[in-house]
Amino acid sequence: MIDPPRPIGDMYALVYEGIEAIGRGDEMALNKLAELTSNVPDWIRLHLEMEHTFPSPSGVMRCRLAQWYAARGVEPDQKSPLSWKVRRAAGILQEPYFLAVLASGGAKVELPNKKYQCGPYMQAHPDAVMDDEFLVEIKSETGVGYKRLLETPGGVYVTEKSHYVQAQLYLFATGREYCLYLTNPPDPSLLQSDMRRYKKYGQNYELPAVYLEWIARDESTIEMALERAEMITNDKKKDTPPPKEFSGEEFAHTGKRAWPCGWCLNLTSCQRDSVPLRIGENNVDTEIVFS
Ligand code: SF4
Repeated sequence: MIDPPRPIGDMYALVYEGIEAIGRGDEMALNKLAELTSNVPDWIRLHLEMEHTFPSPSGVMRCRLAQWYAARGVEPDQKSPLSWKVRRAAGILQEPYFLAVLASGGAKVELPNKKYQCGPYMQAHPDAVMDDEFLVEIKSETGVGYKRLLETPGGVYVTEKSHYVQAQLYLFATGREYCLYLTNPPDPSLLQSDMRRYKKYGQNYELPAVYLEWIARDESTIEMALERAEMITNDKKKDTPPPKEFSGEEFAHTGKRAWPCGWCLNLTSCQRDSVPLRIGENNVDTEIVFS
């Protein structure tokens, strides 16, 4: 495997310096922010367009039945809550801030406000390219997700597979080797004070302001995702719904809301339409393999 473009420690130092520079109103950092934000409306438009395309690099790992409902324009059983919409928009809007942070020391950070063909069925819209060296992907994580990323060996590959696959498809579409993954939680103070209540962290625990990771290109994941995109495309053409990929149950046996079905906007339709597999049947083409 090719070495990462720079040591991850250098990237942390660069990000922390950028956060300080914008915080004290450094002229160069603010000019960079102004330059980037003028491109934001087009950028949001492209983001939303991608979100409403099936299959897409960001959604290809979603349940294939849920994607079939969305692609066929089946009305969801319930509206997505306003708070989700706010969080999604806020997540997109924080991206120019972090790109300005990365660029504040003089790095060339470009918003590739264009789509790249990503295999026969998808298009890719990476967040940015830095110094013409690597891609940058910025994500806002929930507090729970952020804590898991910090604490789980294996990072994005283990805790956020859909983000990992999305980054792989972007690397494939742009012909690059590395993507810098940058994430932070929407309310770091809340997460930090919650963690400080536990003996394991202690009252003086300082939550890292950002989490960074190099995602290296992985051909087997790219191949798996391209095959999956073909399957979703074929599903879309059929009038009968494809098999579900999760339990279809709202709650787990522990009584907790089950992921992802407990949050699925098509849960009622899924419970009405989906046929459980019988003993001996094998839903082979839905298998998701991470080697
Ligand atoms: S409820 Fe679960 S299994 Fe059913 S469509 Fe939604 S995510 Fe898929």
